[in-house]
Amino acid sequence: MNVANLLTAAAHERPDHPAFVFEGRTVTYRELERLTGQFANLLGQRGVRPGDVIAIFLESSPELIVAYMGALRAGVVPNVVNASLKPEEVRLVVSDSNAFLLVTDPTRWQALQAVRDGLGTCQTLLSGDDDVTEDKDEGLESFNTALEGSPSDFKTLELAPETLASLLYTSGTTGFAKGVMLSHRNIIDNATNFARVHFTADDRLLIAAPLFHCWGLINGLLGSFVARATAIVPRRYRTEPTLDLIETTRPTIMLGVPTMVNYMSKSPSIPQRSLDSLRVVLCAAAPMPLELIETMRRLWKVGYAESYGLTETSPVITTTPSTEMRPGSCGRAMGDTILKVVDAEGNALPPGAVGELWAQGTAITAGYFGKPEMTAEVFTSDGWFKTGDIVKIDDDGYVFIVDRVKDMINVGGEKVYPRDVEEVLHRHPAVADAVVVGIPDLNLSEVVKAYIALKPDHAWTPEGVLDYLRPELASFKLPRSVEFVAEVPRSVSGKALRRLLR
Ligand code: ATP
Repeated sequence: MNVANLLTAAAHERPDHPAFVFEGRTVTYRELERLTGQFANLLGQRGVRPGDVIAIFLESSPELIVAYMGALRAGVVPNVVNASLKPEEVRLVVSDSNAFLLVTDPTRWQALQAVRDGLGTCQTLLSGDDDVTEDKDEGLESFNTALEGSPSDFKTLELAPETLASLLYTSGTTGFAKGVMLSHRNIIDNATNFARVHFTADDRLLIAAPLFHCWGLINGLLGSFVARATAIVPRRYRTEPTLDLIETTRPTIMLGVPTMVNYMSKSPSIPQRSLDSLRVVLCAAAPMPLELIETMRRLWKVGYAESYGLTETSPVITTTPSTEMRPGSCGRAMGDTILKVVDAEGNALPPGAVGELWAQGTAITAGYFGKPEMTAEVFTSDGWFKTGDIVKIDDDGYVFIVDRVKDMINVGGEKVYPRDVEEVLHRHPAVADAVVVGIPDLNLSEVVKAYIALKPDHAWTPEGVLDYLRPELASFKLPRSVEFVAEVPRSVSGKALRRLLR
């Protein structure tokens, strides 16, 4: 078994069909199969062995696709890193994964110089045509030049289904880096089941969600390969360029997150746009306001289908065809997923009752990379994965998300773990104590708010806090609001009373 066989099968059946379109360049399935063979050979030539990890730190791009699929063919494990992370955040997740080689672009590589020794990678491949200064003694090479010098024939490794295929980090602070391990079976199953519900071979799928998240990568890109469809890949989401792209490339489906739909619906240009190629919009990762679904139906005249899951669940565990959607629901269990709702003691609750969602099935991760204690925290002794989301499930199996028990903050689909921000705040000499929480936001669902208690005789301003945090944290993690307090409320055991602050 190998995830890359999804691509190979498409290349056999539809060799001349466009696998993806990126900035006006079309790459057919045959061509993509050839490029990934070149990359797989290249890894072998550079000493990367099956089971080794490589880090891919890129925005959505042909290089990300080729490196990801090529690594899988060689049994090498890609650690796909969020392209908006700052150097120290990248260092934490790349070094935690013991990545041997890094694929990035010249701008990001430049920024990473500050943490270069701490990355632990031996070699770097730089994408892009300009400004790539090779330094072979330093292990620094141009991605494209190295690829061109590599043969394309490569026999994809057949691996046991449980073999680790990919790492996707959901949080990274010292001692708290959570690399979600997804196996070949996890990924193949999720992409295949999802594609069967939503895609046909005639589809042109605009993947507005980034490919460095599993929603865009597994359900979007790999799902499109399963269907032998065509993926349309923007480098990053921007409202007007995405609307332009819909008009020029005429996708039938858009896969994104609610915040994107929100910004697109509010665009002053929307009444003049021809979005009639779209038949359905697929969203996940954050709550979708009901008014927004209505607005979209009215303005865009498209269907809507919602999915739900976590990186730990590959990611989709509930989905519904757009024709079977129920307002406010994120669909029914997908594939062989079994769901149950439990009370605080772990007792199963009847349909309609509100409680934490637990799941079992092929979609569920084996755990966090090198972190058995963190893995044990999210599983029960009898194998249920605890999602940390509070839901209710109706008599027909439709899941409705109500709240969550975990501390995660959902900023327009990007997830912020308070600890990632708090650790950086605690390092500042003026800070006596600091806690961050999520507060509601009309556009982004939630944003980060920081409560900071200063040491005696220390002064700081909200602007000063942001100036300090900006080089350290990806912009989606930055507080939108900072409040100075005499004392941060904590329980007797020292736990921050986040609900009280919210
Ligand atoms: P990706 O990182 O690829 O976007 P994801 O959002 O599914 O995938 P995570 O980043 O791990 O995965 O975040 C998981 C959390 O996102 C869930 O626990 C839940 O709180 C929230 N979430 C996911 N889908 C939905 C949804 N349809 N509605 C509301 N919240 C959602």
